[in-house]
Amino acid sequence: MAESFTLVLATRNPGKVAEMRDLLADLPVRLIPADALDAPPDVEEDAPTLRGNARKKADALHRHTGHPALADDTGLEVEALDGAPGVHTARFAGPDATPAENNEQLLQVLQGADTRRARFRTVVAFVDGKDVHDFEGVCEGSIAEAPRGDEGFGYDPLFVPEGEQQTFAEMSAAQKNAISHRKRALHQFAVFLQARLEAQARS
Ligand code: IMP
Repeated sequence: MAESFTLVLATRNPGKVAEMRDLLADLPVRLIPADALDAPPDVEEDAPTLRGNARKKADALHRHTGHPALADDTGLEVEALDGAPGVHTARFAGPDATPAENNEQLLQVLQGADTRRARFRTVVAFVDGKDVHDFEGVCEGSIAEAPRGDEGFGYDPLFVPEGEQQTFAEMSAAQKNAISHRKRALHQFAVFLQARLEAQARS
């Protein structure tokens, strides 16, 4: 199938863009990351849920470009913190926190905790002006005692997926992308979009 479908990725996080490109590579779709656009809108992620933020980002980019848009909102849910930081994951150590500061904050608050179990949850939202669809992926795991590894981004140096010994940041991109929360959400999206493209091609 020719690449006749353009999809705007409503994220400026280069780590997410790289993973989304890999995970959607089999689709006959031209992907445009928000950073490649002229003056992409700055969207405040102030919705109370991952789904709300994902929809808000995708909607803003769809309105800005006129193209179908896909956004990802991800949260880390830590059992000992009753599921926090969740929707506040990006700002765990403060409004302009760096990934290293967020990781440090997480290690601090988990000192002496009974459990280090946690999960990543990703919601991806697709907005094309007609419909809104969202897809969710979860990856269970635990928080390491100290950061390990240089790959990936964000909390990857602290997150050990269930059944693994390595953190995401110690894995290759292919290893992470085979099991991650983002892969699980984007796989469902890919199945949805493939079916839609095939239906369009038939009509
Ligand atoms: P957001 O979805 O861009 O709001 O990201 C929320 C927070 O989670 C940010 O601090 C990201 O760096 C972090 N994050 C998102 N996805 C991942 C991931 O796959 N691995 C590690 N950290 C992530």
